[in-house]
Amino acid sequence: MQKERLQKYAELIVKCGLNVKAGQEVIVRCELDQPEFVAMVVEECYKCGAERVKVEWSYMPITKLSYNYRSLESLSDFTEVEKAEWERKLDKLTCMLWLDSDDPDGLNGTDSEKIAKANVARFPFIKPYREALTSKYQWCIAAVPGKEWAQKIFPGIPADEAIEKLWEAILSTSRVDDDPIAAWKKHNENLARHCKLLNDFNLVSLEYKSANGTDFKVGLNPIGKFVGGGETTLGKKIYFNPNIPSEEVFTSPMRGVADGKVVATKPLSYQGKLIENFWMRFENGKVVEVYAEKNQDVLEKMVSMDEGAAYLGEVALIAYDSPINNTGILFYNTLFDENASCHLAVGRGFNECLHGFENMTVEECHKAGINESMIHVDFMIGSKDMDIVGVTKDGKRVQIFKNGNWAI
Ligand code: ZN
Repeated sequence: MQKERLQKYAELIVKCGLNVKAGQEVIVRCELDQPEFVAMVVEECYKCGAERVKVEWSYMPITKLSYNYRSLESLSDFTEVEKAEWERKLDKLTCMLWLDSDDPDGLNGTDSEKIAKANVARFPFIKPYREALTSKYQWCIAAVPGKEWAQKIFPGIPADEAIEKLWEAILSTSRVDDDPIAAWKKHNENLARHCKLLNDFNLVSLEYKSANGTDFKVGLNPIGKFVGGGETTLGKKIYFNPNIPSEEVFTSPMRGVADGKVVATKPLSYQGKLIENFWMRFENGKVVEVYAEKNQDVLEKMVSMDEGAAYLGEVALIAYDSPINNTGILFYNTLFDENASCHLAVGRGFNECLHGFENMTVEECHKAGINESMIHVDFMIGSKDMDIVGVTKDGKRVQIFKNGNWAI
């Protein structure tokens, strides 16, 4: 990939994704795949005045060894070093950047039950930090090609060609053209316009129908709001884009109000395993039945990780004709696939989807209907023929989606 174009991408991630300000600390988490690009990103951070940039490298085969060889007790450990790192994050409000390049099958052959148990054990230690940091710091997830990931998407061609093709797909869907920063300004304005339209309807529920068997109704929160694109931190009011790319307009639904069946339209890569051809059935907001042609056990474990894992945390609307879907590529990666299609997420909801969340405690947000869980997993349900009808507070029905695309 041309260096000039990568330079623009690095700049987009740092200035528009994270919006790094003078004096801030940045942590970059990435695999070993694209060290030259990571260096470009780090330099951009320093050019924006970052005080300190730390790169935390990982390498999937070693992560896998650690899951396979370490005991459950060892994996569950929350160390003094980790505690100190969380304290520092809280103190400095460190910017967090994830450059995702994971092999979608990279953790095949690991014991998902052991990993799940270790995560459950560690969660109580991490949770207070996570809650204290909500909406206070800038973060961004973007992607770079990894060899295994690229070859999974483009099988049967040499690795370097596959990587080049994946670079192209990442850059085009991330709007890295002549002036990506201007393109994102316009894009953020468009997303904000759809949010305003939806919020002005005062919807109490959404009803989904699709020929594949999806027949589903979800309740919306009376004090909820749809958001999308950039977000603003509390405190310093820094505007940042948590996902590059991003096409979604989303909210957190009312916990406990969802009924019917949703059929997934794309496979789901979860903890390094691919769940394929699956559906879930809800009653009173809770998943009561799941089916998957492949990796049903992983899906079952996922929705029973904790009490909230069987409830919804997110409802997201994306046109079927989205730039990502129009590439025709199945990315096997949530960042891209979730932005190609209407989706739902089980698990943790977003407090910031409530009006007035700034003045509410975490408990008050949960009481108001925001779901709580250690997981948040998106899965795709959008299809070419999907119809979505919104029901307003005074009982009017509004066509929101017609044949997979926005009707408003
Ligand atoms: Zn989403």
